[in-house]
Parts: sequence; C-alpha cells; structure tokens
Amino acid sequence: MTELAAKEPIRSSEIDPKFKYELAKMHGGEKILRCFQCGTCTSDCPVARYSDTYRPRTLIRMAQLGLKERVLKSDTLWLCAACFTCTDRCPQDVEVASVIRVMRNLAAERGCVPQVFKDQTASILESGYAYKIPELRVKKREPQGLPPLPKGNPESIRKTLKGVKFLEAIEKKDEPHGQ
Ligand code: SF4
Ligand code: SF4
Repeated sequence: MTELAAKEPIRSSEIDPKFKYELAKMHGGEKILRCFQCGTCTSDCPVARYSDTYRPRTLIRMAQLGLKERVLKSDTLWLCAACFTCTDRCPQDVEVASVIRVMRNLAAERGCVPQVFKDQTASILESGYAYKIPELRVKKREPQGLPPLPKGNPESIRKTLKGVKFLEAIEKKDEPHGQ
C-alpha cells in the first residue's frame, strides 16, 4: 500500500462522486453526508494527538469529495483505535468510528490491508497468538513461577475469519492506483 498525501493536488479523473453514497448505504456509514467539517472528531481523537498524518475529519472530507482511491489506499485508515470518542463528540451525530470501519471493510475487500495485519493474521492462524512468542521466553515461564500459556485455538479463529471472508481479502494483492 502507498499513501497518497491528502495535500496532493486533486485531479478530476480521480473523483468518484458516488463514493459518499456508497458509504452512506452501508451500516454505520449512513450519516457521512451530515459532516460539516467542524474538526471536533480530530481534535478529540487520541490517535490524531500522536500522529502527524491521522485525521478522521480529513478521511471523511476526502470521502465526501469522492477521493475513493486515496481513502481506501490510505495507511492512516488503519490507525484508528476504534475508541468511539469521535462518535460520542460529533455535533452532527456522524458515527465517525463506524464510517472508518466501513472504509476499512471496503479497503480489505480490495486487498488493501497493511502488511502488519497480514502478518498478524498468519501468526494467529498458526499459533492462535497475534505475535509469535519466542520459544526461549516460553521456556523461561516455569522457572519464574509463571503458569503455562493457554493454548491458542487457530482452527476456531480460521472458521471465524473464513465466515467474514477476511482470509480471501488478505490474500488479495493491493489493486494498483489509477494514477
Ligand atoms: S465531529 Fe462530526 S461534523 Fe465535525 S468534522 Fe468530525 S465528523 Fe464532521
Ligand atoms: S474511534 Fe478512531 S478516529 Fe475516533 S477518536 Fe477513536 S481513534 Fe480517533
């Protein structure tokens, strides 16, 4: 995935005027058109506070403008911590966190998932853990009086991920930018 800077000049050829309606039809995205860009979501967002690039307001505006490729291929889309502070504070009742989830789902359907999440998925499917725990660390638990780690259940996770078609999504290659 690559990041198309929000400040890069917009070309008319990249505008998809139907994008906002596509989002508005999906569960959680219904109120996206109500956003009047007050900036409350960004100013209260704990992630935006520590990031130079993550701005929920900007993602919403880009979607309203029809910048579908930029939104769905944005790495920052995946920085949202789903804390719902933005949703609670939006004066227009936009479900900002849900809009971002809808955008992520659309991005995932096209295979636009950051490599870090693909790697985590592979680890979960192998061991049941998001991160592979080094054998040495596992062995050190007993001498330190710690109980054994509970066994992961990759099979049950595989079933869940299959059910939501996540496995197909992460196996897809990123679609090229229409640049
Ligand atoms: S708080 Fe609501 S109205 Fe204000 S910029 Fe964010 S989404 Fe838009
Ligand atoms: S849900 Fe995401 S966008 Fe909203 S405040 Fe939390 S981290 Fe920021």
